[in-house]
Amino acid sequence: MKLIFEKGAPGQHLTLMPPCDVPEVTLANPRTEPLDLPHVSETELTRHYSALAKRVHGVNDGFYPLGSCTMKYNPKINEEMAALPGFAQIHPLQPEETVQGCLEVLHESEKLLCEITGMDGMTFQPAAGAHGEFTGLLLIKAYHAHRDGPARTKIIVPDSAHGTNPASAVMAGFSVVNIPSGEDGCVDVDALRAAVGPDTAGLMLTNPNTVGIFDKNILEITRIVHEAGGLCYYDGANLNAVMGVVRPGDMGFDVIHLNLHKTFSTPHGGGGPGSGAVGCKEFLRQYLPGPVVVKDCEGYHFTKPEHSIGRMKDFYGNFLVVVRALAYVLTLGREGIPEAAKNAVLNANYMRKLLSEKYTMAYAGPCMHEFVMTLQDLKDATGCSAMDIAKGLLDHGIHPPTMYFPLIVHEALMIEPTETESQETMDEVCGVFLHLWDVAHNDPDVLHNAPTKTPVRRLDEVGAARNPVLRYTEE
Ligand SMILES: *Cc1c(COP(=O)(O)O)cnc(C)c1O
Repeated sequence: MKLIFEKGAPGQHLTLMPPCDVPEVTLANPRTEPLDLPHVSETELTRHYSALAKRVHGVNDGFYPLGSCTMKYNPKINEEMAALPGFAQIHPLQPEETVQGCLEVLHESEKLLCEITGMDGMTFQPAAGAHGEFTGLLLIKAYHAHRDGPARTKIIVPDSAHGTNPASAVMAGFSVVNIPSGEDGCVDVDALRAAVGPDTAGLMLTNPNTVGIFDKNILEITRIVHEAGGLCYYDGANLNAVMGVVRPGDMGFDVIHLNLHKTFSTPHGGGGPGSGAVGCKEFLRQYLPGPVVVKDCEGYHFTKPEHSIGRMKDFYGNFLVVVRALAYVLTLGREGIPEAAKNAVLNANYMRKLLSEKYTMAYAGPCMHEFVMTLQDLKDATGCSAMDIAKGLLDHGIHPPTMYFPLIVHEALMIEPTETESQETMDEVCGVFLHLWDVAHNDPDVLHNAPTKTPVRRLDEVGAARNPVLRYTEE
């Protein structure tokens, strides 16, 4: 397929700008060579992007069980709300009194999401989950710095954690202490006890964790960290497993982030926009990034918390992502939110059961919103790896699950159907998975050579990572 720059011919163009109706100004240093823009007509432009869009696989095209990423259907009404001119066509520098409705959205969203998570305050500035982790860790850092105690430099992270957790801890200036998981996929409590000390700043944990298991020792875990003087950080990227059912705040967590672009309705996967909203308990609110919205008898205002860690992003974060989240929470309501969570868990267990007819599960069930299979035995028996099965799925129009994560499981495939898939779709997909298991035994080369029906075949991923070509150079 040709790039847009390789199409068309000089002279072809489309008129994007209306004629100039203000006095023209001559720039001090005008460009001396013409800008190299594509020369295409409107028809050609439309066809080009339409052709590209057909090559993309998204949740609107088919099943997308990318574990830990929560690729679920996002109700279109939330898009309509975010497109309302009163939200979409404002300027971030407008005076407060002209955008009271938008401030109300931020304030209401904070209130509702705090209620769902068991937190007392929230910022919407961070643009993604990892950005939220970094922000939350800076809150923990500010808290310890303010207290003048021993230097607390270490963040404890279990080995099943999402890769962004240790990365964020290091970026926030902490060193990372890794602790192992037990056979059951939960935190090894004895290892945690041995790891905490006067230098512990905190613990980062996901519950349910990345292998889809709810840690039954959670209250003991957070108590151990608190008794050592540390704080507890909850990675709530995938809250759809528990929202409306249990609250991180009640499990003993002090700081959390939510991925509004996973759990609360904004489509994601294309690189943004996102929102890694960070919630905290009352005693940490004074450190939140500013501005935050407060309400008094005259309306809504922006203020800066007393000991704010400063700004994490310009203005108020990705505001329209918050609008979608609010629309989602309000449409589902007090009954719909726990129902969505329970359906996410039910769907995962349904698929887990069907697939365990042939595939080996990494951990004993039941699971929460996702589960991990290990294909090591299949690979030993047939030579077909988790990668081969994933590529085989592509030829059936199914997006592969998350592969080779978490690192503690060999030949891992991590499946998250989400609450928005029907039983019929899951039956069909499980049928394909079980069929591929047979193909691996009967005709493994089919899988070694897959995919054959996609626009590109098997990509050289290592080559792409080692020698990335990030810029188009004209011949
Ligand atoms: C997706 C995810 C993150 C990171 O979120 P980004 O928005 O991609 O930065 C962190 N933790 C968990 C458990 C996740 O699933």
